[in-house]
Amino acid sequence: SERTLVLIKPDAVSRGLVGEILSRYERKGLALVAAELRTIDAATADVHYAEHVEKAFYPPLRDFVTSGPLLAAVLEGDQAIEVVRALNGATDARKAAAGTVRGDLALSNRENLVHGSDSAESAAREIALWFPKL
Ligand code: ATP
Repeated sequence: SERTLVLIKPDAVSRGLVGEILSRYERKGLALVAAELRTIDAATADVHYAEHVEKAFYPPLRDFVTSGPLLAAVLEGDQAIEVVRALNGATDARKAAAGTVRGDLALSNRENLVHGSDSAESAAREIALWFPKL
């Protein structure tokens, strides 16, 4: 079994989609290990998105993820990292497949509702950042 970090981003919270999205992960069979509603500052966003801080799309992404509360969560299950990314769908929600969180519920490249760790290394780093006591 494996753990992954999920962010249910501020667009999902403001649209009232947290329950809908969390229930997709739970119905798939993933277990909720930790969850907390949090509003992050720019410095925390920069650490989480360290690989993107120099990119052109980052300043508006930082504004977006700090714009209001998000739900940070740790999910656990067999191949949880890959399973969550498959459930989330393609980064660009306009192109994400039907049946995925982004494909069904979003229509934006930036405001795409969710984040899921993209590798075992990222999951370890992100879980330590968001939930240092785990
Ligand atoms: P996440 O890391 O959030 O799960 P991802 O791994 O599918 O998404 P990344 O390439 O790591 O996507 O990009 C991180 C986030 O930055 C995306 O989820 C999206 O919100 C935003 N983003 C990525 N590319 C663009 C872009 N070209 N224009 C606007 N926003 C973007």
